[in-house]
Amino acid sequence: GGRVDIESLSKVYGGEEERVVAVDGLDLEIDPGEFLTVLGPSGCGKSTLLDCVAGHVEPTSGRVLADGEPVSGPGPERGVVFQENRLFPWKTVRENVAFGPEMCDRPTDHVADLLDRMGLSTFADSYPNQLSGGMAQRAELARLLANEPSIMLMDEPFSALDAMTKGRMQLELLSAWRETDATALFVTHDVEEAILLADRVVVMTARPGTVKTVVDVPLSRP
Ligand code: ADP
Ligand code: ADP
Repeated sequence: GGRVDIESLSKVYGGEEERVVAVDGLDLEIDPGEFLTVLGPSGCGKSTLLDCVAGHVEPTSGRVLADGEPVSGPGPERGVVFQENRLFPWKTVRENVAFGPEMCDRPTDHVADLLDRMGLSTFADSYPNQLSGGMAQRAELARLLANEPSIMLMDEPFSALDAMTKGRMQLELLSAWRETDATALFVTHDVEEAILLADRVVVMTARPGTVKTVVDVPLSRP
């Protein structure tokens, strides 16, 4: 898995008039192979933090290193999943999942197996608008895994799902993640979810940017 170093990271949105300090001087290290959850209320800056690691948002100051290299944009070694699926609507599930490796001229032999393991085989030829919310997020996870990223970034991927589907998908994510050696950064406002998934939980407070590690122990997993 990849190592993530977040150094004095700050992100300020807006100009003189309406300044929003979304992240304020955050220092955080994520060890290779660790599953870290960042827990905090809505608006505390979780998405901004994750977007800076993903390379979708440029920090106002400070920096993010992925495996020692400064992040300056998205890269295939960092896969991202959001709350709502961002599958291509004009591609089938199989085509969506195979797209990443194809773009990188990498083999796609593992795609069929991946679809099978994620319970997506019967939906391989379906289009995203034919999927339930749970199935669509499963397809998103399969798409992420197909790229074999060394860093998995997840922004509340299950928060729009009903409780039962969410519970099942959390366990599926854990078993799929264990098959990889990827480092995982998962942000959520859901306390139970944060504790269930993580090796370590970092709490981000609503006061912009302040962060403190309140749990720093290996948590037992089901
Ligand atoms: P969270 O993911 O914890 O809900 P966000 O990172 O989305 O938090 O937002 C943190 C703060 O930054 C919030 O006050 C939010 O309104 C603000 N914010 C987020 N994105 C933008 C943006 N593109 N422009 C202006 N303000 C933003
Ligand atoms: P979340 O991070 O909770 O999943 P969003 O990223 O959609 O949700 O938005 C988080 C907050 O950031 C919301 O309160 C939203 O109003 C605010 N926000 C997002 N984009 C902008 C923007 N361009 N300008 C101002 N506020 C924004």
